[in-house]
Amino acid sequence: MATRAIIARPTGSGGFTGRYLHQDGKPDTAVGLLQDFVLNAHVGDVEAATRFLLDEHPNGWLNLPASDGGGECFCHNGDGLDMGLFTDQTDGEGEYAYVLHPDRIEVLARASEGWQTIHTTAWN
Ligand SMILES: [Zn+2]
Repeated sequence: MATRAIIARPTGSGGFTGRYLHQDGKPDTAVGLLQDFVLNAHVGDVEAATRFLLDEHPNGWLNLPASDGGGECFCHNGDGLDMGLFTDQTDGEGEYAYVLHPDRIEVLARASEGWQTIHTTAWN
């Protein structure tokens, strides 16, 4: 089942800004995929991985890339779909947000009172 999520970088104000993810959005799936992508595909360079996920594929993702390839984005898969920019202020899509900090992944869940941090995993 598709769990919609947001892959994001932190903003200075304690919020985040990022891109839409259509599948793989549950924490038990997404955290492992993001760890693999950052640590293996980008040898721990969080900034380079974030640029790839957010800036080089700005229309959002159908599913996440991994170190062994894969990953389908809306900008390059021929759909022409553009999901736009998502922030912590954006209403609607995204049950979870994955904020890629220099030292950790922060997992947030959308709650009635706003985004709540539910989990943090160090990159190591
Ligand atoms: Zn793309």
